[in-house]
Amino acid sequence: MSEAHPLRLRTLADTKVSRLRNVGEKREAALRSLALESAFDLLTYYPRRHIDRTKRVDLSDLTLGEEAAVFGEVTKVTARRMKNGRVMVEITVSDDSGSFKVVFFNQAWREKQLVKGVQALFFGKVTEYRSQRQMSNPVVDVIIGPLGDERDASRIGRVVPIYPASGKAGLTSWEIGGFIEESLRRAGPLFDPLPEEARRALELLDRTTSFWGIHLPDEYADIAPARRRLVFDEFLRLQLLLALRRRRLEESSAGIRHPIDLEDLDAAPGSLSDASSSLVRRFLSGHHFALTGAQRRVLGDIARDLASPLPMHRLLQGDVGSGKTIVALTALLASLDGGRQGALMAPTEVLAEQHLASLRKDLEALTKPDDAVLGGWRPLSIQLLTGRVRAKDRQAVLDGLVNGSIDLVVGTHALLTEDVRFRSLGVIVIDEQHRFGVEQRAALRDKGREHSEERADPDLLVMTATPIPRTAAMVIFGDLDRSVLDELPVGRLPITTSWPVDDREVADCWQRVRHEVAEGRRAYVICPLVEDSERVEATSAVEERTRLALGELRGLAVGLLHGQMKGSEKDEVMAQFRAGELDVLVATVVIEVGVDVPEASVIVIEDAWRFGLAQLHQLRGRVGRSTVQSYCFLLGTPPNEDGATRLQALVDSNDGFALAEIDLGIRGEGTLLGARQRGRSDLRLASLRDDEDLLIAAQRVAVAMVERNGLSDQPEIIDELRLFIDDEEADYLFKS
Ligand code: ADP
Ligand code: MG
Repeated sequence: MSEAHPLRLRTLADTKVSRLRNVGEKREAALRSLALESAFDLLTYYPRRHIDRTKRVDLSDLTLGEEAAVFGEVTKVTARRMKNGRVMVEITVSDDSGSFKVVFFNQAWREKQLVKGVQALFFGKVTEYRSQRQMSNPVVDVIIGPLGDERDASRIGRVVPIYPASGKAGLTSWEIGGFIEESLRRAGPLFDPLPEEARRALELLDRTTSFWGIHLPDEYADIAPARRRLVFDEFLRLQLLLALRRRRLEESSAGIRHPIDLEDLDAAPGSLSDASSSLVRRFLSGHHFALTGAQRRVLGDIARDLASPLPMHRLLQGDVGSGKTIVALTALLASLDGGRQGALMAPTEVLAEQHLASLRKDLEALTKPDDAVLGGWRPLSIQLLTGRVRAKDRQAVLDGLVNGSIDLVVGTHALLTEDVRFRSLGVIVIDEQHRFGVEQRAALRDKGREHSEERADPDLLVMTATPIPRTAAMVIFGDLDRSVLDELPVGRLPITTSWPVDDREVADCWQRVRHEVAEGRRAYVICPLVEDSERVEATSAVEERTRLALGELRGLAVGLLHGQMKGSEKDEVMAQFRAGELDVLVATVVIEVGVDVPEASVIVIEDAWRFGLAQLHQLRGRVGRSTVQSYCFLLGTPPNEDGATRLQALVDSNDGFALAEIDLGIRGEGTLLGARQRGRSDLRLASLRDDEDLLIAAQRVAVAMVERNGLSDQPEIIDELRLFIDDEEADYLFKS
């Protein structure tokens, strides 16, 4: 490693662990099993926790029934087979103040791991057996192995870092710490991407000090500021990439200026409009309701994007029932007003077909000029393109899209297939984006660019009904502008949600269903989720429908909808339910997204705890879509606390954004970030919940850095960013 210049992370990444003093083939392999191949991997392998040895609990002070972390040396080990055949390993752990017993059941390998002389941290509940304090099956972190040469007391200091998963690889936390220390010492000062002024203004440590502070703190108080700086770096890299991505898009884009008149957005329902008015105006004035304030505001954002020469790249977030569809339709019509086409992509066939039906209905009164038609005007042509469309029809749709006789196409990811071409695609709306990857988003945009006469980038509106916390949105959708529909149409009553706890309350639930049906309304019953088996799920839905039709819901018209049914069967059932020929729809989660039947006023969710919070909120959003009071019942007894917390949260709140925050708290960020795009796996220390201030600061700094000149005079930073993305993205972002 070079000494002359501050070292770049890239150099660390190029330095193999085998260059370290005590790393031979065996340890190299062990490190590789922890994905630690370079000095950089080691430096970013952060301690799971630190033990402050100045605050250590003496073995003599352990309190019965409490959890404790105790550090001591193994002084005795025995293993024996019990009557039931299981192996019990019993060890004695001692420190200056005394000793206690630790027992392991069915973990025979502990006998080899915890040999005499090993020093380790034991974390678990203190119990008593034959009036002796003990722990059974505690979490163990081996700190110092049995070999004398590792007991170099100088590194124990007062604060000891504990590294994760070291037992499995046959490496002690102590050894890993040693390799990290050697890497840090030999690396010397590290290059710091953060400009000095910014660092000072944000009161952040420099990078070198921070790596030392987290791995080798002199005292406990060193850790937090070190962590802050390293978290900031993670966010900074992420935000730099997002800012660069945006800049690229803007530079390389050939956008469309759609003709859109802001006054048309204020066309009141029933107000005057004639055939010469824009489609947008005719559409909005033909509605029986006025836009909510939020819808009007968001349409303003969108109209500005559409009128601008840069392509729109916007995320529309809105809670279930907030009225996203009308916003999307208006954007699509603006494209038609400019003589172009529009595309709406939905995540499922059910939803695409539903969109098609409602679009056709909403737009049936609209016509556009067409010289080929005798009267000079024709209705809008809105067609479907999904995997289910038959070959002959499909060809007709493909032809219509190329020659421009189709104005709007609604579809699934089938829209992304190779042979789909447009005459002139002006606006794309993607519904329920969380189901689509970033690549799919880009692929659809490319359709407009590569495969239409105009060679321009269509404007893109991405809609999601699953509110995600602001911080998560900044990470996952950081390259999109955002608009939020934070208002429900007037007259909506909050849905009454209950969680029946006994038979009587469950009986009340079915009584409510019968009552609502008697009043002319409709109900959904959602069957339990069966992980990984649509077939089993379908079977249970079939059985549940029969059970209810013969039992609690006898005499009502009960229909069935599940994922194993043929598309045409599903359509048939949905149509019957919509028309009121069915009173109750027993369904699996196929109806989760977007289904809109305003007459439905009750939803019963069985084994509700099996569903995630966001999913429950989506399901509940199938009701409460008119001005009558709606009800949601959550059945089933959660087997664990998380399940109970979810159900209670739902009972307490109708606000999707508040629920999203709670969800983040329960599930942790891993799941949420699972949706994150490829090449963005750099968040190791950062927490979206706890580090919001750093995320916001990092975004500000990143935008400023990129705005100056796209980092073109900062090769060190580009070099660092390249570590976190694949070559393809790097070529895209950094080609000059
Ligand atoms: P989302 O897709 O956001 O869940 P939808 O667009 O399906 O919501 O709208 C939910 C329901 O509210 C639909 O029946 C729609 O017709 C109705 N709606 C939308 N906007 C308004 C409004 N401004 N006033 C009254 N009803 C509205
Ligand atoms: Mg919707």
